[in-house]
Amino acid sequence: MTDQTTAPAPPSITIDKEALKARYREERDKRLRPDGNDQYERLTGRFAHYAVDPHTPFVERAPKTDHVTFAFIGAGFAGLVTAARLVEAGVTDVRLIDKAGDVGGTWYWNRYPGAQCDTASFVYMPLLEETGHMPTEKYAHGPEILEHCQRIANQYGLYDQALFHTEVTDLTWDDARSRWVIRTNRGDEFTAQFLGMGTGPLHVAKLPGLPGIEDFAGHSFHTSRWDYGYTGGDHEGAPMTNLSDKRVGIIGTGATAVQCIPQLAKDCQELYVFQRTPSSVDVRANQPTDPEWFATINEPGWQQRWLENFTLNQTGGLAAEDLVMDGWTDLARRVVTKVMSLPADQFTPDGLMTAFEDSDFEKMTEIRARVDSIVEDPDTAQKLKAWYRQLCKRPCFHDEYLQAYNEPGVTLVDTDGKGVERITDKGVVVDGREYELDCIVFASGFEVGTSFTDRAGYDATGRGGLKLSEYWADGMRSRHGIHVHGFPNLFIVQLTHAANLISNVPHNFTEAGRAIAAAVNHALKGGYDEVEVTEAGEDQWMELLHGGSGLGLAGVIGSSDCTPGYYNNEGQPGGLGHELLLAYPAGPVAYFEYLKAWCATGDFEGLAFR
Ligand code: NDP
Repeated sequence: MTDQTTAPAPPSITIDKEALKARYREERDKRLRPDGNDQYERLTGRFAHYAVDPHTPFVERAPKTDHVTFAFIGAGFAGLVTAARLVEAGVTDVRLIDKAGDVGGTWYWNRYPGAQCDTASFVYMPLLEETGHMPTEKYAHGPEILEHCQRIANQYGLYDQALFHTEVTDLTWDDARSRWVIRTNRGDEFTAQFLGMGTGPLHVAKLPGLPGIEDFAGHSFHTSRWDYGYTGGDHEGAPMTNLSDKRVGIIGTGATAVQCIPQLAKDCQELYVFQRTPSSVDVRANQPTDPEWFATINEPGWQQRWLENFTLNQTGGLAAEDLVMDGWTDLARRVVTKVMSLPADQFTPDGLMTAFEDSDFEKMTEIRARVDSIVEDPDTAQKLKAWYRQLCKRPCFHDEYLQAYNEPGVTLVDTDGKGVERITDKGVVVDGREYELDCIVFASGFEVGTSFTDRAGYDATGRGGLKLSEYWADGMRSRHGIHVHGFPNLFIVQLTHAANLISNVPHNFTEAGRAIAAAVNHALKGGYDEVEVTEAGEDQWMELLHGGSGLGLAGVIGSSDCTPGYYNNEGQPGGLGHELLLAYPAGPVAYFEYLKAWCATGDFEGLAFR
């Protein structure tokens, strides 16, 4: 684990930029569709059976009618790190609530074969130093990450109060008692002085809205509810032996599919991959962690140092070293190298954007060349090439994905950007041809561009009966993405209106969790019942977000020039999707520094304590 370099030195290649831009536009235009987010189906009503938890049996329990100091909706990384910071600050009365049967959030649900983090474990897995856990691989697999979530919950005593298989149905602020009343689908009606929400942007699975989807007579499931009962095998990686005589189709080729296709390719008799848009798949270069090497970095403050170093490198900062050295930092390092070689007269915003674009063209040209070097059939290789800027879609990294297409039982069914035509009782139809299947795996992703309250499945009623859905009807308003005026003692833990660091989502939560614990601690120590962002404090923040480019790098990736996907609201930038991309104009590093200083002064500028 000493040589962590993944990317080869950029070869000197000649790139016809205008031809590439034209190709990118052509491919994007093929995929634009007027229904945007509406093309998908929710796992409710007639599709509700797709959402059933296959991992943990449901256990009856008596409804809760008590009071806790802090209730947190969502027991994934956001809830776990915030709760851990609260416990460290002396607030031990914390209740996690989750629709899942345990902690873990995305790592609870997504147990598909091959699930693995895409950002290096040393920065991706939170609270490593606090828990003393050494990730066993540079990119840990799902079971280890889920176990780490359980480790955090155990270490900080979060299981005692937790409510699982519980969905919040209503949140109402009780002004007379300065507390939140929380109601759930399990008949609970309890109160909390403080309330957190960390339900993640990608927690509501979706299906493609295809004609005939209900007619399929074979078996089908969504990747976030992997049915090992049908496939055989398990989350730990045991072979899916029941598939050895099965024809399986997988719809979708996003980050999830890229990770599970290699396993399916090994275990199915026949695998059909239905592709609308190829992912860009760069080198993974996973490796086991050498404990001797780990001992050399494991000194007090090591993980915070790694987090800050990764964020600085990944966002194009001038760092003296690159500790993580991976595909995320590679692109940024290329941009920096290019920018540093710009003549003084090109050192302008346009010059910088051109340097960024040129680096991207080079990177994507290499990634396309990688397809040719691995995939044996030239026609299949051609179809697996991604024609868009790398950050238009979630970049993928894998060392077995492209190789899977060399397996004799694997067929790529490319739909030339149109997607699957329909589903029949026997299988999947593309371009008029029916592919007969025993099983369909929907790797069709999660809702993003819909409203926060729609995805959450509940509304929050704040001071004076104000509904969060109404307050945010024209887009989210907040300070730091955490505090919302009119909603006292409420803290939201997510990425936007803040650092919006998409390359390492848990880092956003770690910093937000610290700031929340500091504010709650200040309220409790000072004997205050309430803490709320003032109207002016929120306005000032919104002006700041809208004042700069406002979107930062996320604005580039979420642009209408990109092929449709959830980063750009399915090719319809603006509206709620646009609001979701708003970020601190000076970037993630500056945001984290700002937030640290904001807490350190003890003034909590913009908040009112009563
Ligand atoms: P995505 O939304 O990225 O992918 C959904 C896939 O379904 C896309 O390939 C999409 O095509 C395809 N699709 C949708 N409708 C149709 C249709 N009608 N016909 C054919 N194909 C269709 O979901 P994922 O679950 O793959 O990933 C979601 C996110 O979860 C990732 O972006 C990432 O943030 C996270 N993730 C992280 C991982 C990690 O860190 N290790 C691993 C896996 C996921 P199109 O592209 O054309 O829309």
